[in-house]
Amino acid sequence: MSDAPALQLSVVIPVFNEELNLPTLFARLYPVLDALGRRYEIVFTNDGSHDRSFELLRAQHARRPDVTRVIDFNTNYGQHMAIVAAFERVRGEVIVTLDADLQNPPEEIPKLLALIDAGHDYVGGFRLKRNDSFFRTYASKLVNGVRKHTTNIEMTDQGCMLRAYRRPIVEAIVRSGAINTFIPALAYSFSSKPAEVGVQHEERHAGISNYSFYKLVRLNFDLITGFSIAPLQYFTMFAMACSAGSFLLVLVLAYRRLFLGVEVEGVFTLFGILFFLLSVCMVGIGLIGEYVGRTYQVVRARQRYHVREMLETKA
Ligand code: UDP
Ligand code: MG
Repeated sequence: MSDAPALQLSVVIPVFNEELNLPTLFARLYPVLDALGRRYEIVFTNDGSHDRSFELLRAQHARRPDVTRVIDFNTNYGQHMAIVAAFERVRGEVIVTLDADLQNPPEEIPKLLALIDAGHDYVGGFRLKRNDSFFRTYASKLVNGVRKHTTNIEMTDQGCMLRAYRRPIVEAIVRSGAINTFIPALAYSFSSKPAEVGVQHEERHAGISNYSFYKLVRLNFDLITGFSIAPLQYFTMFAMACSAGSFLLVLVLAYRRLFLGVEVEGVFTLFGILFFLLSVCMVGIGLIGEYVGRTYQVVRARQRYHVREMLETKA
């Protein structure tokens, strides 16, 4: 990352198998940015697409070399790593992130910039009317709720990637060297004057979502275990409550054994309790594993992604 920002605006776009969307994205995005009258650049990261996305990006770079830069990953590292790679290279004073599938209309970018100009250092978009499947909408409401209780991140809509950041925030994200991170949440934790604004949300222009149910679950694990150790603490509290309960049970059983004699009834109840506690232990081990895994990744300090090719004109 260069020292003094050379440009006023950098737009960062992760691209994974978006050949059907890129032509429309180019046709809509460039005019919006040209009309702003700011010196800008667009940084695309090709996140190991299997389709023709990279060829389209290369052609676009040839068409507009002055404002287009393309980072080409050797394989798929995920949307957030694609954004981090672009963050490490941006030259703008203000950085906007946008999805390539046109779910966040590029025409909304000026709205975010107006709030940045008004002095905010972080502007998050939230989708006014979501155009996602019923399942996606409700699943994301659920994890929003969990996040609110386990981390102190205030965000109306964590899934909306149309967001704008001032450069110091992006620099802080880059310095933190985070792995598996959820960028909007990390950025929020560094901001001092955040704002939110409602933005339109369209249906995916073409193609299907790159997020399978499994990927979404993993992303949300990252979000919760990456920003708080509250789950560990809740778990400890629950374990303490269980211990207290078991201790009482032992007292009751000891009393009955001494004063009522040997009994075998209720063995199955005890099994029930035992199995329940066993499963609680297993959840606990899994939870600790989540944290140990994250620690492992950070300690290992391996190169987080590999850039195969970089298309850009030197600044
Ligand atoms: N994306 C990416 N790498 C991935 C998955 C997605 O760069 O492994 C990009 C994708 O091209 C799009 C954005 O991240 O620009 C959001 O992905 P998608 O639209 O599939 O997610 P959804 O809108 O369903 O949350
Ligand atoms: Mg999308």
